[in-house]
Amino acid sequence: KELTVAIDGPAGAGKSTVAKIVADKLEYIYIDTGAMYRALTLKALQEDIDLTNKADLVKIAQQAKISFSKNNKQERILLDQQDVTSQIRTKRVNNHVSLVAKVAGVRKELVKAQRKLATCCGVVMDGRDIGTVVLPNADVKIFLTASVEERTTRRFQQLKDKGVNVNFAELKEEIIKRDQLDRNREVGPLQKADDAVEIDTTDLDKKDVINKIISICQE
Ligand code: C5P
Repeated sequence: KELTVAIDGPAGAGKSTVAKIVADKLEYIYIDTGAMYRALTLKALQEDIDLTNKADLVKIAQQAKISFSKNNKQERILLDQQDVTSQIRTKRVNNHVSLVAKVAGVRKELVKAQRKLATCCGVVMDGRDIGTVVLPNADVKIFLTASVEERTTRRFQQLKDKGVNVNFAELKEEIIKRDQLDRNREVGPLQKADDAVEIDTTDLDKKDVINKIISICQE
């Protein structure tokens, strides 16, 4: 049977890295819901929308065409037919995405799109509210955590590998702030589902986390 696998957790816990490999191994599709909130945020910034104007944000959410494609085994995200894969990872988007993501009407649109994407086949979906809101009936629910220090270190290294040098302390603040906003919002907050398996990855190898999730899928 092809499963639906929900992976939630705070920023930098390793969700996307792990989810991508698990999806590959199981031959499922991978859906990065954070990328969808990021793409909408990019659109709002590009169109100079006031990010406190909820009605305008919802309008953008209703109009935006967000889709995924795979190019040479690389996941790409398209916004209105344009490849925005690298543009959604800027500091500017990082610092504004939680403002866009806390708007109930925006979440309603994206949750609808995410549920639709999950109907086709085996799927691994990562985000903040997948096990609680988007796919409450997921076959497997994982909640990935790690200490703030470790999450910052991983993000720092990831950026460095891409040739981007950032300030460690600033990056840490940014992660803490984003988590706070994500945890404390009224709709779809970052939260462990009651029936999710929590994995603290602080002292674990990526390989071990992946194997653990795959073995849970095979139980
Ligand atoms: O996963 P990533 O760090 O790329 O997510 C970016 C932001 O998108 C999060 O900080 C959060 O504000 C929002 N998000 C969300 N719900 C999801 C996935 C991401 O609110 N399911």
